[in-house]
Amino acid sequence: ADDAPLLEVNNIEVIYNSVILVLKGVSLSLKKGGITALLGGNGAGKTTTLKAISALLRSERGEVTKGSILYRGEKVQDLNPSELVKRGVIQVMEGRHCFEHLTVEENLLTGAYTRGDGRAKVEADLELVYTYFPRLKERRKSQAGYTSGGEQQMCAIGRAMMARPETILLDEPSMGLAPQLVEEIFGIVKDLNEREGVSFLLAEQNTNVALRFAHQGYILESGRIVMDGKADALRENPDVKEFYLGMS
Ligand code: ATP
Repeated sequence: ADDAPLLEVNNIEVIYNSVILVLKGVSLSLKKGGITALLGGNGAGKTTTLKAISALLRSERGEVTKGSILYRGEKVQDLNPSELVKRGVIQVMEGRHCFEHLTVEENLLTGAYTRGDGRAKVEADLELVYTYFPRLKERRKSQAGYTSGGEQQMCAIGRAMMARPETILLDEPSMGLAPQLVEEIFGIVKDLNEREGVSFLLAEQNTNVALRFAHQGYILESGRIVMDGKADALRENPDVKEFYLGMS
């Protein structure tokens, strides 16, 4: 049914290097067409949760030792990252991760490599990305390493869009950016969600901005979800106000 969650994380435990227990039973879900915020302070386990979903944990000697991860109702935790991309799930890593020596446009084109489509479709998607990120069009011939932090964040999201994802796992998009730019980037995320139907699971320390743009939120503390609910309800919750909304 359409009400079934797109992504379902059920009580997962994650251990690094066979000994360091970081996630102690995390459950969350993402609806199709939803924006879900995963909130919490430094080291709470947000990045670990995203990487568990996108299968990027293994390269860091991390392992999901309990629980399950379902995408469209199918178990996906034994897939590799490129198989997840093929199913429509892609992660934008914290810290932007553009290829510094490539131009902005070359970076965007690398995002299309998993697709078997011809040049024309890729060109059309490039134009689509430029309609959401006009700044990237202006900077398309610039070496990515010489663009601003905000432009690099846009480039990383644009590159993910080039894979035609159904779901983007977005790690800490506000990191290191001035408030105005944070608003701009979240505004674009909202547009991509509403007009292109892309679902987002976004990890953020900036509770304030994340809960304004998200539909649903989860708060993670030391590897456990301590609170969850609709974004509006969380924003009005006294504990959230006291412990999280003051922070940012
Ligand atoms: P941040 O905003 O700082 O990225 P976070 O909520 O995303 O925080 P994680 O990066 O998931 O948190 O880290 C959660 C915990 O796991 C931290 O205590 C961190 O030190 C530990 N950790 C992360 N990566 C590894 C790793 N590769 N090996 C061992 N421990 C790790």
